[in-house]
Amino acid sequence: MQNGWSEAEAANKDEMELLVYQSRLIGADASLVIWGGGNTSIKTVSRDFRGQDTSAMTVKGSGSDLKTIEPKHFPSLRLDDVLLLFDRDSMSDDEMVAYLAQCMLDPKSPRPSIETLLHAFLPYHSVVHSHADAIVALTNTQEADDVLKEVYGERAAVVEYIRPGFTLSKLVGQRVKDNPSVDGVILVNHGLFTWGDSTKEAYDKHIDLVSQADEYARHKAKGKTVFTVVRDRVMEEGQRHRIAAALAPLLRGLVSQQQTMVLRYDDEPDVLEFVNSREAGALSQVGPATPDHTLQTKIKPLWVETEDLENLTRLAEQLRQGISRYVLDYSGWYQANTDGDHPMLDPYPRVILMPGVGMWSTGKDARAALIAGDIYHHTISVIRATQGVGHYTSLTSKDAYDVEYWPMELYKLTLAPPERELSRRIALVTGAAHGIGKAIAERLAAEGAHVVVTDIDSEGAMALAQEISDKHGYARATAFDMDVTSQEQVASAFHKLCLTYGGLDILVSNAGIAPVGAIHELSLQDWQRALDINATGHFLVAREVVKLMREQGMGGSLVFVGTKNVLSPGKDFGAYSASKAAEVQLARVLAIENGEYGMRVNVVNPDAVFEGSNLWSKELKEQRAQAHGITVDELEDFYRQRNLLKERVTAEDVAEAVLFLAGPRSAKTTGAMLPVDAGLKDAFPR
Ligand code: ZN
Repeated sequence: MQNGWSEAEAANKDEMELLVYQSRLIGADASLVIWGGGNTSIKTVSRDFRGQDTSAMTVKGSGSDLKTIEPKHFPSLRLDDVLLLFDRDSMSDDEMVAYLAQCMLDPKSPRPSIETLLHAFLPYHSVVHSHADAIVALTNTQEADDVLKEVYGERAAVVEYIRPGFTLSKLVGQRVKDNPSVDGVILVNHGLFTWGDSTKEAYDKHIDLVSQADEYARHKAKGKTVFTVVRDRVMEEGQRHRIAAALAPLLRGLVSQQQTMVLRYDDEPDVLEFVNSREAGALSQVGPATPDHTLQTKIKPLWVETEDLENLTRLAEQLRQGISRYVLDYSGWYQANTDGDHPMLDPYPRVILMPGVGMWSTGKDARAALIAGDIYHHTISVIRATQGVGHYTSLTSKDAYDVEYWPMELYKLTLAPPERELSRRIALVTGAAHGIGKAIAERLAAEGAHVVVTDIDSEGAMALAQEISDKHGYARATAFDMDVTSQEQVASAFHKLCLTYGGLDILVSNAGIAPVGAIHELSLQDWQRALDINATGHFLVAREVVKLMREQGMGGSLVFVGTKNVLSPGKDFGAYSASKAAEVQLARVLAIENGEYGMRVNVVNPDAVFEGSNLWSKELKEQRAQAHGITVDELEDFYRQRNLLKERVTAEDVAEAVLFLAGPRSAKTTGAMLPVDAGLKDAFPR
């Protein structure tokens, strides 16, 4: 394990800057902490609000991440007030949080970490705490007592597992008081604390103790086969992905029975090595390594038994049985441990392991699913190391319950901002790189949806997906090339979509073209092209959507972007009007065929949306201007003057109507047609 401290970088830094530097070094190493885990502190003399020097502790705030931490994420507390607590015998979490809130030098700074007291009770300038995989690996062996003695001798104190809070803090403080010569405290099933008179010393000791654990585990594992490969489970990537994509919608439906979930599929080498091993079935069911693992991945993952990886029907059946069994087990575990203090949480797994295929993780969005998956990579790494040393063991069933149903954590959930209208939803928009499609993709994303941006213009689609993810969060949009007239490209986009998010809730079928020309002058080629894109394209995409949504069993909403020409066709627009009429008729039949599966199908009919549109080519504008006897510049105003409201229709106006039809506010509407044309009496639906 590398010591990353650089004297050159640390030179000329003040105490706060050194704390940030040290914290980020710890945070940058995923084998030490991930996703907000771990914490650091320093004790200094600070100015209080009266301008007087006061002894203070600056500690990581709750909810920040060491990797990217900044000075503002560290609240400071009056140390003398905090230290008074050491004389108490006990204190509840609520009392502790309320007390610490009164100790803050700046009441507006973030809430200090739940492990604040532990930092305070260690009488050293700098304190570092991590959840290092290497340390957890040693504490999570059945032989931990002997192993830790062998590795550390008198160098580190070992404290048995207790959930973080006052009792653990006091116990650790007392242990170090009694053994002032130790360099660190190892918390069983949790992690490591080290300290020093400087931030460098605390960091050096931390890296040193973790390295000792790491080297020991490596040495012990030498020549041992920890995970034995089961040959029948090893598949080539293409076959693995075909199975994963085919099962994902079913799985998503199964785990979304209480709350809709986004899935993430993962077949990284370490995951495959684990799920393809003879040992994984039993080891995966032992229990969680630490409290942090428990909070993200629940007490255990679902292990799906498989016998014949060639037989998809059988695999689907085993997945169904696996989920039912998991829910029963989870409910039993809840009943066995609850005091009736909190109703049962969602009983569905966060991590699903399937031999041969890989792992799925679930979450309320792509980021949460990524976090659960990442944590499970660390679980695998801990299990591998413990099996090299001895035998993996975990938090007890009761301890896992006390973490998942920890009032502090449940309270945190209540602080989360309310979810947006399309949170947890996945939407696919065709022709999304420009104009109306782009405005729709942006609008759905702003309301919380994950958006699959598809277009024949792959660069435009990728740029938009990047823009949406930058604005709204990790993997909130993904771009796939899709020519809607190509059966293969449509199928390939759906395959990738199932691997990326696990399923689909909303389709906005938007891609279209507008060829012009009187029918007697129209080439067969132009006529055919209009039908291919404006009719067949919608059919090819909708066919995949219906298959997916039926498999998923969660209903869904399909919105087709039609045109006012369907109801009020115009001269020289024969190919356009006829092909768009086919699209709308297709939508209506889809509504009839799929109502019983909870799928709604509706149409929006825009008119004359020019802004950013690829539909309105230069040629089309010139042609329409000529047809109406005006100049191109007058065209927009001409369209405005012919509608009842005398308004210009924008892509955002269409996006708003699509949002309404896509989301739950139109739950009882299907087979409908909604004009977005500022009022055209010839195009009134009837
Ligand atoms: Zn911790």
